[in-house]
Amino acid sequence: MDKTFVFYCILFILIAEFILATVMNYLNAKRFKDPIPEDLNDVYNAEEYEKSQAYKLTNYKFGVFTSIFSLVLILAFLFFGGFAWVDNVAQNISENIIIQALVFFGIIMLGSDILNIPFSYYQTFVIEEKFGFNKTTKTTFLIDKLKKWAMTIIFGGAILSLVIWFFEWAGTNFWVYTWAFVAVFTLFMNLFYSKLIVPLFNKQEPLEAGSLKEKIENYAAQVGFDLQNIFVINGSKRSTKANAYFSGFGKEKRVTLYDTLINDLEEEEIVAVLAHEIGHYKRKHVIFNLATSIVLTGVMLFILSLFINNPEVSLAIGVDRPSFHAALIGFGILYSPISEITGLLMNYYSRKFEYQADDYAKTTYAALPLVTSLKKLSKNSLSNLTPHPAYVFMHYSHPPLIDRIRNLKA
Ligand SMILES: [Zn+2]
Repeated sequence: MDKTFVFYCILFILIAEFILATVMNYLNAKRFKDPIPEDLNDVYNAEEYEKSQAYKLTNYKFGVFTSIFSLVLILAFLFFGGFAWVDNVAQNISENIIIQALVFFGIIMLGSDILNIPFSYYQTFVIEEKFGFNKTTKTTFLIDKLKKWAMTIIFGGAILSLVIWFFEWAGTNFWVYTWAFVAVFTLFMNLFYSKLIVPLFNKQEPLEAGSLKEKIENYAAQVGFDLQNIFVINGSKRSTKANAYFSGFGKEKRVTLYDTLINDLEEEEIVAVLAHEIGHYKRKHVIFNLATSIVLTGVMLFILSLFINNPEVSLAIGVDRPSFHAALIGFGILYSPISEITGLLMNYYSRKFEYQADDYAKTTYAALPLVTSLKKLSKNSLSNLTPHPAYVFMHYSHPPLIDRIRNLKA
């Protein structure tokens, strides 16, 4: 392999991915004005429909702008020696390769995050604000940012240091040790994320006593799910958009319902959503996703071990002294077509699992309240009722509303 060849591979991948994403977004946007399927006629009234059209178009235009910005930024970095410059700063600070890597990634990640602040600020305080979704205050926005940085420094820094330490100690076999460590870390996070990380950002409380709790109690007892594991989170602190999710397994399993979901839906509808989430657990989707992500990490680390000692990967991004951290950046780009493909597969399974969870809710509870809740949630988030099938295939982790409703009514 020669460094110019690797450089052109990197260039080709970056541009091809940009074109693919742009074409997909364009195809999807062309369907914005398609007639709404008959089963979904009652989701929006005329005024809300107008608003949802405007929301889709605004997000589409904003997406085009941000993806062009990101592409130009990374190309400029590649062509004008950005990585070499950051590498020099890192080399001047310390002789130690772990510290060099921490400084190198620290500058790149902090730099790109700071450049992204105007975009996420605009998204939250202009777009989401204009359409009535935003509840985030500027203080929360700033504090969230600082907390996320602190977490990246602590967890990201520790993992990166350990990986390089494995590399120094075990050579290309580092991937086995890294894999074992990442697998344990992933399991730990899956189990304790709700207990350790979520409270840093949100308040979580058990369900309040009342008729909703009674209904949920009855349903949970019927399917053998412990009520202790159902929590309500204050999602309304940041947005009016509603959500619910399942996390963990074994003793640490839990369903989290957003307070916005509880405000937006009738009690039967909330139980139906909860039944759907419990369906994910009963059909073992959580375990499947966890196992798959651990296997995929192993595959990626193994391929990384084949490339890591190849100086051309560092040279191709313009860094003339090959190093683990420079090779990692080059590898990250070279590997992205593979992760696009594994992403497609994961989305495919995720959409299948959504039908399975819907079916579970339908058989153990009822289909109709789930149908009406899905319609309300779509309406309240101004979601797109006519996505392009190719766009769905690539990006959707949930089937389009019309398909889920047809399945529930079948
Ligand atoms: Zn689901």
